[in-house]
Amino acid sequence: MDTVSAARTPAGFYYAANNFRAAEHGGTHLDAPIHFAEGRKTVDQLPLEQLIAPAVIIDVSEKAQADRDYQIGVDDFAAWEIRYGPIPDKTIVLLRTGYGKFWPDRLKYLGTDKHGAEAVAELHFPGLHPEAARWLVANRNLNAIGLDTPSIDYGQSKLFESHQILFDKNIPAFENVANLDQLPTKGAFVFALPMKIKGGSGGPLRIVALIPSVNQ
Ligand SMILES: [Zn+2]
Repeated sequence: MDTVSAARTPAGFYYAANNFRAAEHGGTHLDAPIHFAEGRKTVDQLPLEQLIAPAVIIDVSEKAQADRDYQIGVDDFAAWEIRYGPIPDKTIVLLRTGYGKFWPDRLKYLGTDKHGAEAVAELHFPGLHPEAARWLVANRNLNAIGLDTPSIDYGQSKLFESHQILFDKNIPAFENVANLDQLPTKGAFVFALPMKIKGGSGGPLRIVALIPSVNQ
């Protein structure tokens, strides 16, 4: 960020303005389908009604804390549905691994404190198993999916298959989502509005939730 002005002007009033530039995929951000699926939607093409919707939380934090390479599987969704019923249509599905609490400790959050290409082989954090991605797109009608790790595929993924499977169906992913520990299993209403970058493969995401005052 470059400061354009942060000072009192000759006319007497204070004036602040900056210029900034950023990666599309930094911090809390949205992956648009085109990120891993040629010809699919760019970030500006995602309809708002897909990004403003009720949310459910799938909590896998116990397994994910015990295994940094944990992949959220079909079994996890099946167990959730036995308890809470089928994931409703047009839902935003949020995966709670518990890793959000490690941010911004690189070693704990990513599994390595190396940077860039050097770090890639050493990334260890949980993600969505490709089989579960396949099951979700075939059997459920979700609007979007998100989680509290840097990637919808786990850290050791080489082919990023969950990205490919979801994005082929124009289902976007939210990554590095914070504060998932504060959401109820059901009943939250999420607004996930990315910066509208024309032709963008993703963008910085301001994601917030309304939470019912009486939690179930
Ligand atoms: Zn991304």
